[in-house]
Amino acid sequence: MTRFISGRTPTTTLETNAGAFERALRVTPGGVNSPVRAFRSVGGTPVFLASGHGPYVTDVEGTEYVDLVGQWGPALLGHAHPDVIAAAHAAVDRGLGFGAASTGEVELAELVLDRLTLTGAPGPDGSAAAERRAIEKLRLVSTGTEATMTAIRLARGATGRPLLVKFAGHYHGHSDSLLSEAGSGIATLGIPGSAGITPETAAQTIVIPYNDEAALAAVFATHGDRIAAVITEAAAANMGVVPPLPGFNRLLADTAHAHGALLISDEVMTGFRSTAAGWWGLEEASGVPYDADLTTFGKIIGGGLPLAGLGGRAELLDLLAPLGPVYQAGTLSGNPVAVATGAAMLRGAGPEVYEHLPRAARAIADGLSAALAAEGVAHTVAWAGSQFSIFFRETAPQNYAEAQAQESWRFGPFFHAMLEHGVSLPPSVYEAWFVSAAHDERAVDRVLDAAVPAAKAAAAASRPA
Ligand SMILES: *Cc1c(COP(=O)(O)O)cnc(C)c1O
Repeated sequence: MTRFISGRTPTTTLETNAGAFERALRVTPGGVNSPVRAFRSVGGTPVFLASGHGPYVTDVEGTEYVDLVGQWGPALLGHAHPDVIAAAHAAVDRGLGFGAASTGEVELAELVLDRLTLTGAPGPDGSAAAERRAIEKLRLVSTGTEATMTAIRLARGATGRPLLVKFAGHYHGHSDSLLSEAGSGIATLGIPGSAGITPETAAQTIVIPYNDEAALAAVFATHGDRIAAVITEAAAANMGVVPPLPGFNRLLADTAHAHGALLISDEVMTGFRSTAAGWWGLEEASGVPYDADLTTFGKIIGGGLPLAGLGGRAELLDLLAPLGPVYQAGTLSGNPVAVATGAAMLRGAGPEVYEHLPRAARAIADGLSAALAAEGVAHTVAWAGSQFSIFFRETAPQNYAEAQAQESWRFGPFFHAMLEHGVSLPPSVYEAWFVSAAHDERAVDRVLDAAVPAAKAAAAASRPA
């Protein structure tokens, strides 16, 4: 039996990453349960992780890394935060799930709704500040994929229209309607979409370039009365970080609404990360707020366990079963252990966390940028709130075509040099880097130390023939 003494030290029979991968390849397609984990775009053998603690993860060989994957988002407070773990233990002791309503689900929904209620500026005539709410009700599901899939069904059910508009390079999970030019894993593997999706289904999704007002106007001019919804990442971060141009989200909402369509804002990644109130909160504060009809959440909302959610105006959410005609259900939805860890995560993410994240991210990005500049490597750091990614090109891209126009072949050697020097990055140039509240000076310094040889490796990389 494996025993973890401090949560850091695996004392099981010695296993190697290579050995574990070989075993995995025999029983699992590609040796992984989610494609980007397989290291295909960076080459080499994936590390098999045994434990995580604060900003660090440890592989089966006992090697410790500063982690900048952060469970792809959920590890906002770092790995194995004591309060989150304690909440999980307490919930586990009460039973793993009941398939019945439980009060933890209500508590989590209340916490989320609370965070997504902001008080606006007082009126110019001195009238009381209006309360602004991103969502009025929340339905819990198990994955971000389910949340966006349900949002689309709900939008179609509410409008009685068939078409969906999405942006090239935006990722919303792996449901059929959403895999066209879907960034992230698909971009990493260099494939245009997915096999197994019927032409009829694919034809219901219209893909347009991001941050492109003219393309948006054109698609609504042509198909306006048949479009159920526009779905957008609140700030795109699955083709590398590509924020919306100022006012673009507002334009999306206004254009959709002018044509009787809905705006679905996907905050699976940005939710509870960009600010306490997600990207929505950041734009509320910027003076160009927008009104999404439906908003999806995932990653942080479950505190590290499988949990996601779909929120929106009450009259829309009430179209879901059992009140309305749009069906959605889930055996594990609102699982009591997951809602307990999610609530502990949200309770633990106070203002100091949201002050720390951009500081730590800025320190890492600045040091990295200096190291790359010292080696003469063309690059830019792109930002959306406290999230960033590196592009091997001179200027920050505004859409997927620009994101792809970079010297992406520099990333593999860069990634492996980082790994060799104790830093675990997302294994794809198309992923955002995830910093946590636990990334202290020591962890940041270790990243910056590794950045020097990594920059050299990026400089020495050669363009494939
Ligand atoms: C991760 C992600 C999803 C999918 O969530 P899963 O839990 O992996 O299904 C959807 N949208 C965005 C923006 C994401 O980053």
